[in-house]
Amino acid sequence: MSIISDLNISPDKKLGQNFLVDKNIIGVEIREADVSDKDTVLEIGAGYGALTLELAKVAKKVIAVELDSELAEILQDRLTDQNITNVEIIQGDILKVEIPPFDKCVANIPYQISSKIVELLGRLGKYSVLIMQREFADRLVAKPGEKNYSRISVLAQYHFDSKFLRKVGRKCFFPAPKIDSAIIRLLPKKIKAKVSDEAFFFKFVRAAFIHKNQKLWKAISHSKREMELDKDVLKKMGHELSLADVRVRTMDIDQLAKSSEEMLVLVGK
Ligand code: SAH
Repeated sequence: MSIISDLNISPDKKLGQNFLVDKNIIGVEIREADVSDKDTVLEIGAGYGALTLELAKVAKKVIAVELDSELAEILQDRLTDQNITNVEIIQGDILKVEIPPFDKCVANIPYQISSKIVELLGRLGKYSVLIMQREFADRLVAKPGEKNYSRISVLAQYHFDSKFLRKVGRKCFFPAPKIDSAIIRLLPKKIKAKVSDEAFFFKFVRAAFIHKNQKLWKAISHSKREMELDKDVLKKMGHELSLADVRVRTMDIDQLAKSSEEMLVLVGK
């Protein structure tokens, strides 16, 4: 790709560096996010700015977070050269830096931390349009009982109404990854499932989904490490849950929230 060789970039696989090189897809993502001149947009993993420079044309401001200091420098030079003044670069790890206030997140995210990014955006509760690996996207939007339904589906659906917008072929990136990607929209939920202790709920869901094909009581009895309780204690508690005999992989968010609330009471006893 000429721009990448012109900029003398050698992509680092460990950091999930697959740069968007398809202008059409960049346009689609920005249109889907409906970015206006009133929006401050957070971009996670800005790279050399393929998306950043286009976002800067339509947004009020772009906060571009990039871990790789060489890329952050290249991006800064490109902004200076093109006299773009509404982009703030934060060089650092998105999971560690302090994130200034923003309205929307639009990004082609580093795939190795996809789950953590969804958790972060869930906590921040912001509208997001993200390009991510297809397999991960399939898991995000999977419904109870479907093959891909997993912990991350529950996590995403607790915070967001998620929508699969379109597939993005691997050739839209350089270097081309081995698998396709997708554009996903995350719309923060106005009303969330009733959960009195979110941290406990996420721990419970993590524990239950390790054995998602089992009935709830059995899955829970196997979660010694996650729940930090003895197997016998967990087995007894599991049987006391009103949905004890339901298979974890078929449970929707409200059923999981209800079970977690019951478990919280049992653990507190
Ligand atoms: N948005 C750019 C780059 C996407 S590749 C484009 O579409 O062309 C993902 C980018 O995320 C890489 O530039 C990588 O260096 C960066 N990255 C990886 N881990 C990161 C982290 N923890 N925090 C911030 N950026 C990260």
